[in-house]
Amino acid sequence: MILTNNLTVNEQRHLAVGGADTVELAERFGTPLYVMDEAMIRKACRQFKQSIDTYYGGRGLPHYASKAFCCKEMCRIIADEGLGLDVVSMGELYTAMSVGFPAQDIGFHGNNKTEEELRYALECGVGHIIVDNLTELDTLNALAGEMGKNARIMFRVKPGIEAHTHEFIMTGQIDSKFGLALENGEAMEAVKRALSMEHVTLGGLHCHIGSQIFDIDPFVMAADVMLHFIADIKAQTGYAVEELNLGGGFGIKYTQEENPVEYDQYMRKVSDKVKADCQALGIDQPFIVIEPGRSIAGPAGLTLYRVGSVKEIPGVRTYVSIDGGMTDNPRYALYQSRYEAVCANKADAPRDQIITLAGKCCESGDLIGKDMPLQKTEPGDVVAVLATGAYNYSMASNYNRATKPAVVMVKDGEARLIVKRETPEDLIRNDL
Ligand SMILES: *Cc1c(COP(=O)(O)O)cnc(C)c1O
Repeated sequence: MILTNNLTVNEQRHLAVGGADTVELAERFGTPLYVMDEAMIRKACRQFKQSIDTYYGGRGLPHYASKAFCCKEMCRIIADEGLGLDVVSMGELYTAMSVGFPAQDIGFHGNNKTEEELRYALECGVGHIIVDNLTELDTLNALAGEMGKNARIMFRVKPGIEAHTHEFIMTGQIDSKFGLALENGEAMEAVKRALSMEHVTLGGLHCHIGSQIFDIDPFVMAADVMLHFIADIKAQTGYAVEELNLGGGFGIKYTQEENPVEYDQYMRKVSDKVKADCQALGIDQPFIVIEPGRSIAGPAGLTLYRVGSVKEIPGVRTYVSIDGGMTDNPRYALYQSRYEAVCANKADAPRDQIITLAGKCCESGDLIGKDMPLQKTEPGDVVAVLATGAYNYSMASNYNRATKPAVVMVKDGEARLIVKRETPEDLIRNDL
């Protein structure tokens, strides 16, 4: 099949996902519709966990980065798989707590957490608050003191490696709004200040070098930089860092041309580096956390749309207009992201047309993709856009007062609603 082997064509010539007929799903639940395949989500969780068991003796844990796709059912599945969770806002933490997610396995991120968020994280008893800057450190120490708590923290460190999809660079002074720099001593200063604080316990260090990365080398280099910093900390303060969080960013296959490496190869190479460095530097091997988001949710999802008009402009292009767009998938508008699409009700026909898939918002840039191969489509057809499980529902908006689509979860050919479709009443709920 086109991208992932959970996508098949059934006897009706319809696209099926996890055994469920997508044309039937579109009829039953309406469009646009996000469809997630539970088996794919669980498989990805297990692959990451297994890779830590195999290559690092199980002394680590994947945390699912919930910003990729966050709702109550997703948090339940992640908890059930025994993974931890990353949250970056009150809303994500609230969602996790609402289903009883184990707070000690939650990491709270963000470059500008509010006092309200820090208080809430302390109340919930999250495993780590990943502190981004010195202002936050001081605020947190004061808040924890006030609340009679001790805040277990990590520091977000800029390792000076910037990774893009097909290349990476080591930069001197890196320009990023996230974290503390190593080269100007900022990160070391933060560590020393935290060690002297009464209401804060330093648990570890964190870095995250980018997203949709295919190359393993930048991850290995980031680990190397962090371990040298851990050795410096030990030399200067005597303090042994126990936990190293190496972030997420593993690339997924959005188009036929992309070929991500197997995720266990990532853990294999990073573990080798960590072990070698620890031996060479005379430090203990840290507990390792990784934070996959896109790679757990992305390949498991697709979006179903109903085609409205097909506008053929001779010699220019053909616009296939669908009943969604940038409100449910802003990634083309934001990053010119590329996707594969399939006409779900004639999935076995050749994709021999080149079309532009257009949304229904009042923006020329509201496209799902330009120049995409697709079957010849007509009004009323159902189009599936693939690999939309991450950063689609979580980035959806109400622009043009669009209602956010429903989300269904498919398992063993059966579908269940996990997020209801918004209604016009939902849109005016907070209007006065
Ligand atoms: C976004 C993010 C992730 C997840 O990135 P993916 O590319 O979705 O794997 C992990 N950690 C942090 C701190 C992030 O900001």
